[in-house]
Amino acid sequence: MSDDDAGGVRAAGLALPWAQGTFPPAGLSERRVVWDALMGMALHEASHAIASGDVPVGALVVGPDGRLLGLGRNRREETGDPTAHAEVLALRQAAMSRGQWRLDGCTLVVTLEPCAMCAGALVAARVRRLVLGAWDPKAGASGSVWDLVRDQRANHAVEVVGGVREQECADLLRAFFEPHRERT
Ligand SMILES: [Zn+2]
Repeated sequence: MSDDDAGGVRAAGLALPWAQGTFPPAGLSERRVVWDALMGMALHEASHAIASGDVPVGALVVGPDGRLLGLGRNRREETGDPTAHAEVLALRQAAMSRGQWRLDGCTLVVTLEPCAMCAGALVAARVRRLVLGAWDPKAGASGSVWDLVRDQRANHAVEVVGGVREQECADLLRAFFEPHRERT
């Protein structure tokens, strides 16, 4: 996912149409449009998890310039890997795109509030901002049960933007779990 920008400098990631110029936009309403669009991509990625019986959670990472650096969906069942959460996979791909583990200035967008492992990974990667869809009152570690991304004892704090397309993100999860509940 690389191409050359106008200056001939190799820029990491993929340019997104709504993220040209200042990213994110300064105005709150303009910013909301960008978060909604990015969450739409995360929702689309999440929907692909269903085919492998994975809980539909999708995530992506955009750089400080708004370019797409990484994309991931929950692949725990597909791969048998307990750490294959959407956020971890998106962070890994973003770090590979950037060629470094530090993701300073980056924004991670995810359809469900990160768990303790993913919140820890966000802090470890020095991600600047977390944009989340649905809150997870049972296991969320970004404001619900714990708040690891804004813990003052950590050496890094992440800005949290919550509730972006919350209903759609929650509905996708509910639709996945409802038939499973009937069988048990
Ligand atoms: Zn997680």
